[in-house]
Amino acid sequence: MIDVSKCEITRYPSKVLATKSAKIAQVDDNIKELANKMIDIMVATEGIGLAGPQAGVGLQIFVISLDGTKESARVYINPVVEGFGPMTTMQEGCLSLPKIFANIKRHSQARVTATDLDGNEFSEEADGLYAKCLQHEYDHLMGTTIADRMGRLGHIKFRKELNELKELYGQK
Ligand SMILES: [Zn+2]
Repeated sequence: MIDVSKCEITRYPSKVLATKSAKIAQVDDNIKELANKMIDIMVATEGIGLAGPQAGVGLQIFVISLDGTKESARVYINPVVEGFGPMTTMQEGCLSLPKIFANIKRHSQARVTATDLDGNEFSEEADGLYAKCLQHEYDHLMGTTIADRMGRLGHIKFRKELNELKELYGQK
C-alpha cells in the first residue's frame, strides 16, 4: 500500500532514481490514487512528464502531459518503450535534476505499449517531443537519468549543479 500523501519529488542522486522499478501487479484504487498524485505533482512543478521513482515510488508507472495541463495528462502503467528512427539531439530538463538542461541524444521516434488506468493495454507510435519524453520517462523506470546520458561534456558543463545535488541528496 502506497501512502500517496508522502509522495514528493526525488532528486538526483537519490537511490530510488538509480534503481530499476518493479512491475505493477494490478491496477487497483491505490494505483489510481498514485497516478492522480503524480499528475498533481507534475502539473504543480510545471513538468511534462513524471515517473514513479521521481515521486519516491519504485513502480513501473509514468505520466505525461505535453502541454503541462492536468486535462492532457495520460498514464502509462508497465510501459515498454522502444526508440527507432534516426538519433537526434534535444535539450532536456528533468524535475529530479533542477537547473540542468543538457543535450541528450535519442531516437527521434518511439513505440510504446502500456496499460491504462482502466486496465486496458494500448500501443502507440510517437515522434517529436512526445517520442523524446517517452524515452526519458522510460529511462527513469530502468534507473537511468539524464546524468547517465549527458556524456563527459555534460558533466563538465554542469559540474557545479551536479555537485550541489550530490551534497544535498547523496545520502538519500
Ligand atoms: Zn526526468
